[in-house]
Formats: sequence, structure tokens, C-alpha cells
Amino acid sequence: MITSGMIEFTGAPVWINRDNCKACDICVSVCPSGVLGMRYDSTSTLGAMISIDNPDSCIGCNDCELNCPDFAIYVASKEDLSSVNKKFAKLTDEAKERQEKIVANNYMSLDQQGVK
Ligand code: SF4
Ligand code: SF4
Repeated sequence: MITSGMIEFTGAPVWINRDNCKACDICVSVCPSGVLGMRYDSTSTLGAMISIDNPDSCIGCNDCELNCPDFAIYVASKEDLSSVNKKFAKLTDEAKERQEKIVANNYMSLDQQGVK
């Protein structure tokens, strides 16, 4: 099994360890490509949980993983992705605009409203 970071690679460009996430929003704020958002989650102590809403837009920049203070989010290597015949996306205007909307929505996923 190929691994990336501390959790086994399962074929996705980016994935999370829910047990470590403290819902701090940092990864959402640094993602340039509108991949991430927060979702209300009553099972989380902070009332929300990170969500990977648009994995196909991930450009593999690693900013989320590098900035997460709790080692809760992982990005595949190019080699891992190519082993399952996938590639990271290119940054598009559509993805940049979606990211702006997510930031304006208080880092919540675009189908979630309000303040967590
Ligand atoms: S930066 Fe890490 S702890 Fe914070 S919301 Fe993202 S995954 Fe969770
Ligand atoms: S690797 Fe970059 S583009 Fe992909 S989710 Fe993380 S911050 Fe966003």
C-alpha cells in the first residue's frame, strides 16, 4: 500500500483525519482553489468539521497540510496520484472565484449559511 503522510493514501488528492481536526478554518483560508469548506457537525466539539467539497479542483499545492496545526489534513504526492491514473488540477478562474465566495461565507461550505 502506498502511503502519504501519516494516513494511508486511498486514491483521493486530499483527505482528512477527523479525529485530529479542531475546526480552526486555517486550511480553508489558505486553499487557493475552493476545495475546502467547513460544515456544521453536531458530533464535533466545535460544532463544525472540515469538508473536502471539490477534490477535483485540488492543485496539490500542499498549503492546507503545511498550515494545519493539528496534522489533520493530508495531500497526496504526484507519484501517489499518478499510481491511480489521476493528476492534480490546474488553478482556474472558476476555482479562484469559488474560493472567494467560501471566504466571504465565513469559511463555510457554500451550501452552509451563517456563522459557526
Ligand atoms: S487546519 Fe487542520 S485542524 Fe484546522 S480546520 Fe483544517 S484540517 Fe482542521
Ligand atoms: S493542496 Fe492546495 S489546492 Fe489542494 S486542498 Fe490543499 S490548499 Fe487546496
